[in-house]
Amino acid sequence: MCLFCDIIEGKIPSTKVYEDEKVLCFRDINPAAPTHVLVVPKKHYDDILDVASSEDGAETLAAVANGIAKVAEIENLGTGFRVINNCGEDGGQTVKHVHFHVIGGVKLTEKII
Ligand code: 5GP
Ligand code: ZN
Repeated sequence: MCLFCDIIEGKIPSTKVYEDEKVLCFRDINPAAPTHVLVVPKKHYDDILDVASSEDGAETLAAVANGIAKVAEIENLGTGFRVINNCGEDGGQTVKHVHFHVIGGVKLTEKII
């Protein structure tokens, strides 16, 4: 069982921001900023390393980039935003279906890097 596969299949409800053939973008249940949207490939990959080692990884990353751009446009993030991917245990990944956090709607000050 994968939580995000269940959301993509509509078995668990989510608040959709953008969807196309390859990605679903929905609001994080525990938002860290006024805009906090998860950009999730519809195909299951465990993490970014799994994407990198897949034959269709480049295609998937292009679809993710397009999803991020669409979310930025829909959410009026023209003054900037941040994209975060947590990978693995030390990276703090809690859902083992690759996803990209799009965070914005406020000036982000807590920079790690
Ligand atoms: P990670 O920690 O793996 O980078 O991010 C997982 C994210 O999924 C967290 O920010 C968490 O709040 C979010 N999340 C967990 N369960 C659900 C859920 O059922 N629905 C939605 N929309 N987000 C969820
Ligand atoms: Zn999944």
